[in-house]
Amino acid sequence: MTSPKNPVGAHVPVAGGLATGGLKYAAEIGAETIQVFVANPRGWALPEGRPAEDARLRERTDVPVYVHAPYLVNFGSPTAETLAKSIATVRHSLARGRAIGARGVVVHTGSSVTQTYDEAMAQIHEHVLPLLEEIPEDGPDLLLEPMAGQNNMLCAKVQGLGPFFDKLEHHPKLGVCFDTCHAFAAGHDLAAPGGVKETLDALVATVGEGRLKLVHANDSKDACASAKDRHENIGAGRIGESPFADLFRHPATAGIPFIIETPGRAPEPHAKDIAILKRLRDG
Ligand SMILES: [Zn+2]
Repeated sequence: MTSPKNPVGAHVPVAGGLATGGLKYAAEIGAETIQVFVANPRGWALPEGRPAEDARLRERTDVPVYVHAPYLVNFGSPTAETLAKSIATVRHSLARGRAIGARGVVVHTGSSVTQTYDEAMAQIHEHVLPLLEEIPEDGPDLLLEPMAGQNNMLCAKVQGLGPFFDKLEHHPKLGVCFDTCHAFAAGHDLAAPGGVKETLDALVATVGEGRLKLVHANDSKDACASAKDRHENIGAGRIGESPFADLFRHPATAGIPFIIETPGRAPEPHAKDIAILKRLRDG
């Protein structure tokens, strides 16, 4: 039995419009799937979409689209204002995602900052579960992305997703975005023989089958367990090329998109990163 092919693509800049700018960039680098920001990633503004641009992306059902929520979002924050803005921002990302036909909205699992893990996780239940319940049938999934492991992160190792799924009652709209650089930095040695299988097996054992919806394919500038989140171009970092081939072969990734968030601008090195991944996928 052959598994469905994984679309390979990139996080794309959207200057000029989500469809006009994003799809142009995708064509330049050979991307078959894209991830976009629908707001300033380092701000709290909640911009409206442009209906014609939204419609053009929605109509491109051949290109799976994902939204990455802004970086400031942190549902574990002890600061009431940050928490309130996080809720409003993810609600906005989900609504904008639905408008552009996105399959998922990626959200970082966040940090407890100065409060306890248990206090932060209680907030996950109280504030994220209602957001999941608001998502209409045809809306995007909410995808949790574990982090590299610095600064009281609530989830770095894939096993840390277990309490999130429990707090969020295994909601059907809940999924996972697996970032290879973050996982490596958190201590999953993807570069070791069998490392990819061990990690993805652990992910599936933790959250169940069918929850992994997206891979962020990034090499790492830093060593395994460094807790540093510095992405590198595919094959140029400490993970190397071959673990990405193993990722494509694991049953948990069957058919799911791989998106690069690697350094540089189009066409090189992004076209090269995508070409390497397609070769590893098809080889
Ligand atoms: Zn990522």
